Amino acid sequence: MKTIFNKGLIEKYDKPGPRYTSYPPATEFTESVGKEDYKKKLLESNQGKRPLSLYIHIPFCESACWFCGCNVIISHRKDVSKRYLDYLYREMELLGGYLDKSRKVVQIHWGGGTPNFLTVEEMEELFSKIKENFSVDEDAEISVEIDPRYLSEGQLETLRQLGFNRVSMGLQDLDEEVQRAINRIQPESLMRDVMKQLRDLGFKSINIDLVYGLPYQTPEKFRRTIEKTIE
Ligand code: SF4
Repeated sequence: MKTIFNKGLIEKYDKPGPRYTSYPPATEFTESVGKEDYKKKLLESNQGKRPLSLYIHIPFCESACWFCGCNVIISHRKDVSKRYLDYLYREMELLGGYLDKSRKVVQIHWGGGTPNFLTVEEMEELFSKIKENFSVDEDAEISVEIDPRYLSEGQLETLRQLGFNRVSMGLQDLDEEVQRAINRIQPESLMRDVMKQLRDLGFKSINIDLVYGLPYQTPEKFRRTIEKTIE
């Protein structure tokens, strides 16, 4: 079999790249843009009265998945979130002060990390702070990423009651050997239980992330994971 390498392409991408999940990526941050520029842009953005989308980052995880490139803080101590949330509330107050209250928030996303690292009480408090500082549209798409391995009693019910209507969760691969290699043991039975709970609670949209390219994955194993996911 003849293998063809595109040397130019390999050289072009043979270097650390920005994370695709943030825009502008951290590699593009410069000292030339300061807080006054940010304030000015926020105020200018009010002119068009366009609706808003809010992304809330919860950077904590209970354990590290070896494939993950996100900026996360691994901890079993639940109290680490308190200080972070206090800063987050301060940031929301500041941001909310510059944005026209008539602009509706039509999308909210809690991502991470693991948003279900937060306790039920913290989830309720965070959501009420969002409502204090912004005008959330009654038809807003409100979504959350969850780690099914660390769901605790009452979290899904609380999220649904708060108005969350979309859930996204990582599955990656159902094969045990692959799961061991990535330090993420997540049995199929657990996924099925969580899926049932989400459907029973009436979440409108449920997303499952799979990852291709992990150690010990084969096309056959990955095909089985996809089939079971669709099932
Ligand atoms: S739970 Fe998600 S964010 Fe946390 S380490 Fe694993 S993949 Fe990364």
